[in-house]
Amino acid sequence: MARTDQQEMLLSKDEKHVWHSMKPYSPTNTMVVTKAEGSWVTDYDGKRYIDAMAGLWCVNVGYGRKELADAAYEQLKEMAYFPLTQSHVKAIQLAEKLNEMLGEDYVIFFSNSGSEANEAAFKIARQYHQQRGDHHRYKIVARYRGYHGSSMGALAATGQAERKYKYEPLSPGFLHVTPPDVYRDEDEHITNPQELSSVKEVDRIMTWEQSETIAAMIMEPIITGGGILVPNDHYMKGVKNVCEKHGALLIADEVICGFGRTGKPFGFMNYGVKPDIITMAKGLTSAYLPLSATAVRREIYEAFNGAEQYEFFRHINTFGGNPAACALALKNIEIMEKENLFERSQKLGDKLLTTLKGRLNNHPYVGHVRGKGLLIGIELVKDKQTKEPLDVCKVNEVINSCKAKNVIIGKNGMTVAGFNNVLTLSPPLTIEEKDLNYVIETLISSLDQIK
Ligand code: PMP
Repeated sequence: MARTDQQEMLLSKDEKHVWHSMKPYSPTNTMVVTKAEGSWVTDYDGKRYIDAMAGLWCVNVGYGRKELADAAYEQLKEMAYFPLTQSHVKAIQLAEKLNEMLGEDYVIFFSNSGSEANEAAFKIARQYHQQRGDHHRYKIVARYRGYHGSSMGALAATGQAERKYKYEPLSPGFLHVTPPDVYRDEDEHITNPQELSSVKEVDRIMTWEQSETIAAMIMEPIITGGGILVPNDHYMKGVKNVCEKHGALLIADEVICGFGRTGKPFGFMNYGVKPDIITMAKGLTSAYLPLSATAVRREIYEAFNGAEQYEFFRHINTFGGNPAACALALKNIEIMEKENLFERSQKLGDKLLTTLKGRLNNHPYVGHVRGKGLLIGIELVKDKQTKEPLDVCKVNEVINSCKAKNVIIGKNGMTVAGFNNVLTLSPPLTIEEKDLNYVIETLISSLDQIK
């Protein structure tokens, strides 16, 4: 269906007035989205698409939930804003709820985006060590292929191509290690966490850099934007052990993995560890309003209560914990719990993974299918023996073909090392099974068209 003149006109104004830094990430033609309901989005001309990416992996409860709009509206009418120099009811209730979900031991700091939640985490980790008289611990260990945001500190922690672009010098004090890649590494079957080569690498960097200089390690439980790298089940435990050995804090970036994406309330819950700091955003409000949080273990928080003087966290955030966003987040979590969306994500995700593995096993370009919950990656290669990544133009062909058949899928893995070859499925956790089946058939028929 050709676009109408009206949509073309809007797009030409868009081109003139709106700076879209994220446009180059998508190979498909830009559209003006006007409506969204459930897992479907509609463009200006009425053409409908299944959004198998839930926006940017965030609309976990699906689009068009009237209850969420109502929760925000009611709060806006009652009390639109007051900064958290004082307090308000919805921030208190939300912090209490998040604490309950995390296991009752955390204090919550609110901000507005994933990047800000991570910046707060880095500052808290550094100041925590200072409060205890440990004045040299400032380095943050992160991983290549990880993504943590676009502000200078979060970007310095990021291990993707963005970091190597034209913005250096970034914040100093960030180091990178190689993440596990079960498709390419040889230690997939190792069960002793400390034997994993990627865990040994964390231990090595913390040793050689000197334990006394390391403040924290940050990791996504599953690297998402860097190519859906689902680690060996024992990896996160191994990293936590290494952090404890060196006196470093473990920060879990749950910006994508949180709120059911990986089949549990939080991604780290798949791996039996308890992080010291947990950052969250996207799924916290299903992206209906901006809100993020940095959850900090109580004993870390308590180190900020100086014996002689109140050593507070000097960090101002005007909009953080906005009342309407907090009210909406509470309703969003209520929906997730009422509709058993964490369990649904796990069950539907398992089924999806099994189906894709079975049907794509013999596909000449499909090297590896992996995932957890409704977070799935399909790595495309030129040759299954050498595992050389498929050319990006061919990967793009698949995405464009899906879009032509009304399905939006993603592509990840954009690193300086060139793994721009991982197709991604990350639909709303509410996606109807018939729609998910359509996504599967569309994806497979599009993969079959690769020349
Ligand atoms: N961490 C992760 C894992 C992310 O995927 C993102 C965003 N894609 C961020 C942090 C940054 O979030 P934001 O764009 O809200 O700043």
